[in-house]
Amino acid sequence: MISEKIPVAGPWITQKEIDYVTDAVANGWYENSTKYTHMFEEAFAQYTGVKYAVSLPSCTSAIHLSLLALGIGPGHEVIVPDITWIATAAPISYVGATAVFADIDEKTWCLSAESLQECLSPKTRAVIPVDLYGNMPDMNEIQKTAGNYGLAVIEDAAEAIGSEFYGRKAGSFGDTGVFSFHGSKTLTTGEGGMLITNDSEIYERCLVLMDHGRQSGDILFWNTEIAYKYKMSSLQAALGLAQLERIDELIEKKRMIFQWYQEELKDHKGITLNCEPAGINNTYWMVTAIIDAELGLDKSHLLEQMNKKQIAGRPFFYPLSMLPAYCFSEEARQAQKRNIVSYKISPYGINLPSGFNMDRDKVRYVCDSLISVLND
Ligand SMILES: *Cc1c(COP(=O)(O)O)cnc(C)c1O
Repeated sequence: MISEKIPVAGPWITQKEIDYVTDAVANGWYENSTKYTHMFEEAFAQYTGVKYAVSLPSCTSAIHLSLLALGIGPGHEVIVPDITWIATAAPISYVGATAVFADIDEKTWCLSAESLQECLSPKTRAVIPVDLYGNMPDMNEIQKTAGNYGLAVIEDAAEAIGSEFYGRKAGSFGDTGVFSFHGSKTLTTGEGGMLITNDSEIYERCLVLMDHGRQSGDILFWNTEIAYKYKMSSLQAALGLAQLERIDELIEKKRMIFQWYQEELKDHKGITLNCEPAGINNTYWMVTAIIDAELGLDKSHLLEQMNKKQIAGRPFFYPLSMLPAYCFSEEARQAQKRNIVSYKISPYGINLPSGFNMDRDKVRYVCDSLISVLND
């Protein structure tokens, strides 16, 4: 038994982050008040290979702004994968549109391109594919469907900074791409988010919407519409910039942690870990294990047993269509019948500790513990 509980996620902060934030709090005012946000945005756009990046207080606000800038509202349907964090879907309700829940692919656990087709209706205006746990869906097929039916694409890359689909970075495939810098994510600013796009009109529209409807350059407080206040602070941007300058190291560690788990668990039948399909570079935000249903161990039992051994895990996301927040809606009822893969996998999946404080010994301890729970 170990003395301290192993957390499920957490960041890697070095002197560089401390130096940048210290500089921001000491000097990031007056003529330097926007220095770090601009530097972070520019570096982020360059890293992801797009023209524009807008720093925001969260990924949730980035999805909200994306929907607003794309003109999505009442009477419109937006398709999301049934398996994701609720933040992917909640902003669809903020703008008065309707979320439709598509099934996931059995291997990648991301949006199934076939299910996307099945969910189309004359009201569909957009799709939000999610790069779940660092993996990516079949972006070629999704983009083809979006092109054929005139749908906007918002790529939710909150969990996948640095992942690649045939050499192109996660987040760069949609009309907009969105990221989260919550404390549990690969790159953190404490709380924070980013919206990226190549479309100058979307970019300009976001700048107005995020600043209470002020047109750019307005110094007369002459607001042209009622909008939102969605901004990242200079202190957060300084932290983000330092993390981004270390992104290769961060991703390397995430891939290392996954490899350790893979080595420890490779001889054990009945455990399936995250996959890395051909053409995809997975950054493994969360190492995730699906336990064969035949073993009869559901995720709540597993998490409880792991918890007794001082290991924090998380359940694989419940299908959104199963949550009290959605389950009685007509769209959710249809999803409950249609989304066979989501409902088959979700009860047996758990996220294993994947924080940056993991080392070889901790991974071995977690794996030994998991195996002993399975053998009990
Ligand atoms: C974390 C996360 C979000 C939300 O990010 P916030 O910054 O907390 O708003 C959205 N989508 C997915 C898939 C996430 O994992």
